[in-house]
Amino acid sequence: MKFENDTLAEHKTFDWLRFRQVLIEIEAMAAETENDPNGPVKEFQLLHHCGALKLVLPDHALDFNRTNTPALLQLLNDIGKANLSVGRIFEGHINTLYLIHLYATPKQRHKWFNGVIENGDIFGIWNTQNQNGIQYAETNSQLEIAGSKTFCSGAMLVNKALITGNIKTVERDGWQMAIIDMDRISKDQIDKESWKPLGMKASGSYTVDFSGYQLDDSELLGEPGVYLKQPYFNGGAIRFAAVQLGGAEAIAEYTTNYLKELNRTDDPFQQLRLSCIMSAVMSGRLWLQQAGKYFDSWVNEGNHDEDLIAFANMTRVNMEEICLTVMDNSNRCVGARGLMETGNLGRIFRDLTFYLRQPAPDATRLNVAKFFINNPSAFHE
Ligand SMILES: Cc1cc2nc3c(=O)[nH]c(=O)nc-3n(C[C@H](O)[C@H](O)[C@H](O)COP(=O)(O)OP(=O)(O)OC[C@H]3O[C@@H](n4cnc5c(N)ncnc54)[C@H](O)[C@@H]3O)c2cc1C
Repeated sequence: MKFENDTLAEHKTFDWLRFRQVLIEIEAMAAETENDPNGPVKEFQLLHHCGALKLVLPDHALDFNRTNTPALLQLLNDIGKANLSVGRIFEGHINTLYLIHLYATPKQRHKWFNGVIENGDIFGIWNTQNQNGIQYAETNSQLEIAGSKTFCSGAMLVNKALITGNIKTVERDGWQMAIIDMDRISKDQIDKESWKPLGMKASGSYTVDFSGYQLDDSELLGEPGVYLKQPYFNGGAIRFAAVQLGGAEAIAEYTTNYLKELNRTDDPFQQLRLSCIMSAVMSGRLWLQQAGKYFDSWVNEGNHDEDLIAFANMTRVNMEEICLTVMDNSNRCVGARGLMETGNLGRIFRDLTFYLRQPAPDATRLNVAKFFINNPSAFHE
């Protein structure tokens, strides 16, 4: 499998060759990791030791303080290509570090960033919940959590979890972020029966019950409501789209190799399908490159929020179509023999099919339509 990142390859503080080797190792372990209930523990040790967990921190290769989004998207794409579940957990880590970068106090930022550098801390971001979602209740000036989160990716290996929930105290009222210490959550509070998905098994996205966790003020991140602040909230969809495209690229590569092995690449029907697959992959890359450039030019400007959100929404829904096109054509290329459960293609099909199901896909498309109804000449440069 090929992995590329021009920005990282040229960066003096990051060992790109070592990282590329790590990606190859992660890919080689993917079949075994799929059925490991502890998830990709070894993979994250490797990512820690090659410096990938801290890449976005100040003075590192993809420092959030600089305009590095295209290279960051490429990095997420590469990790997704190696293993979509590892990509999902890694994206959550990056997303959390970004929210810390945006909203933490200098003291909190120092503590949490230092944990990544010194200790290899892995962050997760868990917002999804059912009816028994998170409440922060105050008794005698002590905050205590009640409730659960669902879809907690990496629950068995994340050690710092950003969760969201309702708070109502004298000082705070609204949807509040907190970063809690998973070492203080007993393993019994992670419901192992809650994660029996079609794909993305290795993401270990279990339901976690946080009830009884005593929260310190220093663990609260930002003011109530900032989690949903735009353009950051919707704009971030380009990151998971980048991971998803990695899965589609892996399918494209495996499909071509499979046809080569069977001497079927001279067949015009197979060539037609490969043409569709590679065109879709290339479209995905172009969406990501442009989305990264727009993100860097607009995110802090304040007067392009709607454009940024619309472009991120389009990137996300187009990536869904692109990945479905790649899977559909690959499926017909390789046929039943190429889709055995234990094969790499079978696993990536399961993972990508499942990972494409992200929140509010219909509403996202409607928002794109509304944006263009109100801004018919948008994106004419
Ligand atoms: C592998 C994986 C890992 C994840 N990890 C995390 C994580 O770490 N942290 C986290 O917070 N979340 C995580 N999630 C959850 C994710 O963010 C979404 O919440 C979830 O995938 C959406 O699930 P759904 O497709 O069942 O949603 P639904 O909202 O049920 O959508 C399903 C369909 O119903 C439609 N629909 C939605 N609402 C309505 C309605 N009212 N009436 C009619 N139709 C409707 C939608 O448009 C869509 O077509 C993860 C998801 C996956 C797949």
